[in-house]
Amino acid sequence: DHGLDEADPEVRDIISKEKERQFKSLELIASENFTSRAVMEAVGSCLTNKYSEGLPGKRYYGGNEYVDELETLCQERALAAFHLDKKKWGVNVQPLSGSPANFEVYTAILNPHDRIMGLDLPHGGHLSHGFMTPKRRVSGTSIYFESMPYRLDESTGTGLVDYDMLEKTATLFRPKLIIAGASAYPRDFDYPRMRKIADAVGAFLMMDMAHISGLVAASVVADPFEYCDIVTTTTHKSLRGPRGGMIFFKKDPVLGIDLESAINNAVFPGLQGGPHNHTIGGLAVCLKHAQLPEFKTYQNQVVSNCRALASRLVELGYKLVSGGSDNHLVLVDLRPLGIDGARVEKILDMASITLNKNSVPGDKSALVPGGIRIGSPAMTTRGFTEKEFTTIADFIHQGVQIAIDAKGLASGSKLQEFLKFVASPGFPLMDKVSNLRSRVE
Ligand code: PLP
Repeated sequence: DHGLDEADPEVRDIISKEKERQFKSLELIASENFTSRAVMEAVGSCLTNKYSEGLPGKRYYGGNEYVDELETLCQERALAAFHLDKKKWGVNVQPLSGSPANFEVYTAILNPHDRIMGLDLPHGGHLSHGFMTPKRRVSGTSIYFESMPYRLDESTGTGLVDYDMLEKTATLFRPKLIIAGASAYPRDFDYPRMRKIADAVGAFLMMDMAHISGLVAASVVADPFEYCDIVTTTTHKSLRGPRGGMIFFKKDPVLGIDLESAINNAVFPGLQGGPHNHTIGGLAVCLKHAQLPEFKTYQNQVVSNCRALASRLVELGYKLVSGGSDNHLVLVDLRPLGIDGARVEKILDMASITLNKNSVPGDKSALVPGGIRIGSPAMTTRGFTEKEFTTIADFIHQGVQIAIDAKGLASGSKLQEFLKFVASPGFPLMDKVSNLRSRVE
């Protein structure tokens, strides 16, 4: 039995190139992080070999005494990490990732074509909250359920969720489920207000805290568990664990449904087979870390770093959606500068600064959106503080200037041609990009 070096140098080399990329670049994708060596050891362990359909003590395969011990430990740690009373809350730690976790909730509590309301994707929501366009039902959620997204307040341009509109629309649309949570929203959700709206129309209230679950565990943002019936999350973003998902549910029945059995059955046998025990092992390790004082210090630093980044960007004249940030990400509206997120993403990528283009309220195109999303969790894990995040803002500013100049040189060319132009050997601003890259690396 050989290790990777001997068994597959081709894959080994790809992994080592990716490792170098991760360590050399400024990793600013808000949904990414660097998990610990301990988590990676568990994920790369013999736990991947075992089948264990079912739940601890109720499996469809033999040989699960240790896997039972592991999953029970993981569940206990999940409840402890989020300060939950195990008499009132339960958790399923088997979801393979965030999108399956969400669909498992919908399968558990809705009938096909029941109505749901989540934050619209172009306004910061996630695909799995029911995204559709006028032409196409894009996400499986909008194919199997009737989706009427709510949005940010466009009339006053606050960049905050338009709760008045959500209330009015919910009163007419009468959804069975209202979803809080987002992929690109720099502020907290108003859970008490959403609870009131959900109660008034007889809807479940679910929070998808994927992006902010680390911040929730460390109590540096509002606690969704106080108001929601169900809370889902990924485990690999601010929580800093392995790629995976979890579903937390109230133990008492809600709207006549026993959430515990409905959700457990939706996960298996509803939508999944055998749990990924190596992930559950890594998750258990992550959830132990999440209860340490160092984790709280880390999450406080994530938020402070993001504020430092936001305030430097504002100083440099940038327009931020909602004007700033209360969490781990900022959303920059580049449209006043006459440049888009796609071109800026490309130039920054060439300078080893990794972030993503993002739509901002009022955008027409999702492929060439008007903004960029910048997150602080990953570089905070690498030890960056406010000072380095201020420098990051300066680096991004330089990249944006190069992108604006490059757009001028390539005037009139469509995005694909622009991307070819800047990647070509004769790109006249390559010196500037290389200069920025050498400082970043
Ligand atoms: N929910 C939210 C709010 C997300 O931002 C994401 C991913 O970015 C997901 C769910 C989906 O997670 P996954 O990519 O693990 O399916």
